[in-house]
Amino acid sequence: MYIAHIPAGFLLTHVLVRQRLAPATREYNQLLLLGIIASILPDSDYIYYHLVDQQQHFHHSYWTHIPLFWVAYYVLTLGLIASVGQRHWITIAHVFFLNVLLHCVLDSSSGGILWLYPWDQHYYRLARVPLHHPPRFGDFFWHWTFLLEVAIIMFAALVALKIFRPFTWYTSRSRLDNR
Ligand SMILES: [Zn+2]
Repeated sequence: MYIAHIPAGFLLTHVLVRQRLAPATREYNQLLLLGIIASILPDSDYIYYHLVDQQQHFHHSYWTHIPLFWVAYYVLTLGLIASVGQRHWITIAHVFFLNVLLHCVLDSSSGGILWLYPWDQHYYRLARVPLHHPPRFGDFFWHWTFLLEVAIIMFAALVALKIFRPFTWYTSRSRLDNR
């Protein structure tokens, strides 16, 4: 997945916090920012891929894209939070780790993820995108899996419009001006 990680992170974080927090409040926005950063965090390994690894290995083979590591950190973090009795940190942990794991789920559409690592070295994916040699950026845009990205982006845009009502201020001002 290429361009839908952030909108998907927004949707997931909204679902996770909406029961407790009103949209656009300070705490809601802070958790939203955390969720969005976590939703693209695994792709920070591109820096290592280009600058250190010299593109020698598929970046989904790094631990940053392997669910087992994140699940282990998730469980450890929840245990740590329970042991220190800071229950309000649990929401932060859920927002962070579930968004990272969502990244892995979405990367399973075409990129492939080592879901059963270390027991199985197979990259699980919904579909394999036929690539030109060398691969072209457009290869992914003309594949049906890109429709998933478009659907996520459109749905997130609708939810964002409903939550943040960016045009409400303008229309209410217009009504006042027309009096
Ligand atoms: Zn990724």
